[in-house]
Amino acid sequence: MMSHKPRIAIVGGGLGGLTAAILLQRAHYPVRVYEQADQFSRVGAGIQLSPNVMRVMRHIGLEDAMMRIGLRPLQKLSRDWKTGEITYAVPLERMFELYGAHYLIMHRGDMHEILLSALQPGSLYLNHRLIEMEQNGTCLSLAFANGIHAEADIAIGADGVESKVREILLGPEPPTYTGYVAYRSIFPRKNIGNLQIPDSSKWWGDDRHLVIYLLTNKRDEVYVVTGVPRPEWQFESISPAPVNPEEVQEAFGEFHPEVRTVLAACPQATKAPLLERKPMPLWSDRRVVLLGDACHPMPPHMGQGAGMAIEDAVMLFRCLETEPHDYQAAFKKYKMNRFERTARVQHESHNNEWIRYSMDHEWLFGYDVLTAPLREDAETRRTPANSLGPSIISGKTQ
Ligand SMILES: Cc1cc2nc3c(=O)[nH]c(=O)nc-3n(C[C@H](O)[C@H](O)[C@H](O)COP(=O)(O)OP(=O)(O)OC[C@H]3O[C@@H](n4cnc5c(N)ncnc54)[C@H](O)[C@@H]3O)c2cc1C
Repeated sequence: MMSHKPRIAIVGGGLGGLTAAILLQRAHYPVRVYEQADQFSRVGAGIQLSPNVMRVMRHIGLEDAMMRIGLRPLQKLSRDWKTGEITYAVPLERMFELYGAHYLIMHRGDMHEILLSALQPGSLYLNHRLIEMEQNGTCLSLAFANGIHAEADIAIGADGVESKVREILLGPEPPTYTGYVAYRSIFPRKNIGNLQIPDSSKWWGDDRHLVIYLLTNKRDEVYVVTGVPRPEWQFESISPAPVNPEEVQEAFGEFHPEVRTVLAACPQATKAPLLERKPMPLWSDRRVVLLGDACHPMPPHMGQGAGMAIEDAVMLFRCLETEPHDYQAAFKKYKMNRFERTARVQHESHNNEWIRYSMDHEWLFGYDVLTAPLREDAETRRTPANSLGPSIISGKTQ
């Protein structure tokens, strides 16, 4: 049977793009995911997934697979860098009771693999780096660095902080360097010998911080991730680059002995710049819409960047379903229902004070993107069905 649903090209097979693909494919949209990488590897990074995200994973049937691998931490401690004093303990073990879903921490590569397993076979196109995209009255054409061209009715730019899709819509404008770098390291817990460490703690210094958490449900891997001020340097790539672990040890040389013991056990580390943007006025143009870091990148200080990308995917899907004949109205509604929340998380992430001391987390963790009432405005209802009209790029209104 021929599908009457729009053909959707998702540019970027990261956490946001894959979640969108899974939701859309299950509702019988013809979806292709174009990813620049020629393979995915288990890169050295952990990920924290709060109840607002795990609720979505349950909805797409992946919660159990993730819970089998990941760790349900008991607490997340905020600690003073020098004395180790606990300034706040987030009761993570009570998240289900409070918000109806768990808090999980796991290896990012493991999560990605679980999402990939739910994708329709044959719908992921690796080694497809988008270089150009054109839209006209009848469809979109996409050109990739490998020389291949493709067509679609709608494109979702889920291509991360250096988004090519965003550049095509808005022109070149690199993300802003926050002035901070992330050092990261993952290593076996046995490296720290008998030292007992909490499941998750953030050590707050005056101008830097360090997060240490255990990664698997066996508690056998340790993950370290930092925010350390560094003057701007000419980074050619935003990808994590290997550094000597001594550089990380030096950056935290004055910290509490527990921190120094953990860092002394790091056999390797990487460094990457932390980037951000201010909330963007334009989230879509005609047939093209943005999602996740392509749209609202933020420093990782709240552990919510992927969470926001995944929530975006759900909201975009809901809006396409409620506006089946008018994707421009769907895109408008999507932005209307996502802008405020993502801007708030961008702002809070930039300020880096999240749960340093006791504070309300219900607005973040208790939010249910699957059922939140959809906001509509009168203007959305007046938009003529899929009228493409002249480009609105110049007006940057949507
Ligand atoms: C140090 C650090 C720690 C973090 N910790 C957390 C955390 O604990 N919890 C959390 O929720 N978030 C965390 N984040 C944020 C999170 O990693 C991002 O917000 C999230 O990955 C964004 O998802 P995305 O799908 O939008 O983009 P990405 O995951 O970046 O995926 C984009 C994909 O697009 C591909 N791509 C790029 N350009 C092209 C192109 N031209 N053509 C085709 N494909 C392309 C890329 O290869 C990539 O696969 C952290 C970030 C950092 C830097």
